[in-house]
Amino acid sequence: MKALSVHLTDICNSKCNFCIVDSPFVKDDSISRKRVSRFLQENADKGFEAVNIHGGEATIRKDFLEILDEIQGLGYPTVLLQTNGRKLARMEYAKTVVSKNVSLFIVSLHGARALTQDRIAKALGSFQQAVTGIRNVKELGALVRTNSVVCKDNFTEVPDIVDLCLDLGADHVNLSALHTSGTALRNFWDVTPRYDEIQPYVFEAVDRAVRRGKMVTLEGFPYCAIPGYEQYMIDWKQNQFKMLYRKFVFEDYENYMDSNARVKDERCGGCAHNGSCGGVYKEYAEFVGWDEFQPVTPTATA
Ligand code: SF4
Repeated sequence: MKALSVHLTDICNSKCNFCIVDSPFVKDDSISRKRVSRFLQENADKGFEAVNIHGGEATIRKDFLEILDEIQGLGYPTVLLQTNGRKLARMEYAKTVVSKNVSLFIVSLHGARALTQDRIAKALGSFQQAVTGIRNVKELGALVRTNSVVCKDNFTEVPDIVDLCLDLGADHVNLSALHTSGTALRNFWDVTPRYDEIQPYVFEAVDRAVRRGKMVTLEGFPYCAIPGYEQYMIDWKQNQFKMLYRKFVFEDYENYMDSNARVKDERCGGCAHNGSCGGVYKEYAEFVGWDEFQPVTPTATA
């Protein structure tokens, strides 16, 4: 898919302890409507199949619904909304958003129970709101992809998170490795698990989704940290995202991430996955090191 991607705000109504945007510490939103509108107008009629919206939490912008109207008016085929789902707990609001051409909701759910999710998000009630939000948009006929970041606070319940998301009707569940930037970098040692400790739980979570015949993907994991499960890595190469992020425009965001957020070391040169693996988040490699990551020999994958 060729999509336009718009970072609508740095602000959020939750305060996740691993927020890569660093929302818990952002006081004022600096992203102007004028800049967003210009980006949308400049790229209309250029063959983009969707507009992917994210933040922060996009739904808390006062002009969020107007921006959806603008996207629709400019003729973009559809909207994908990344959200914590909290505002969607109000059915009337969920109906309004769905009616404005949002076809896929990518909802963050980081706990299988309120205690975990609310603690991570530092927002009492956020779990119940997200759960209700998912139920509402499913009832309205939209597609839902859930995203769960695997962190120190939730990794043992990741299989239960996947079960919950599927019970709620999610069409696709995605598990993300923790991106060690923003608030996650400030809280690095409190939030970042080692790949070798989360591995059995991630595998069990994938297995549960597969047993239920549901779509499951992994994102941001070095291939050598998920041996035997490489096929579940989300394939970004099939997608091209042109992104407006604050004052910057990235022509191909995934390429940017591969070359700036993740690193490889000399061992990767001889690895069978070198061509497809994005490497290790650079702060993780810097703080924890490379002991866990062993190159895969070409014969081992044959
Ligand atoms: S050794 Fe390097 S290239 Fe190979 S899977 Fe691990 S991180 Fe990726």
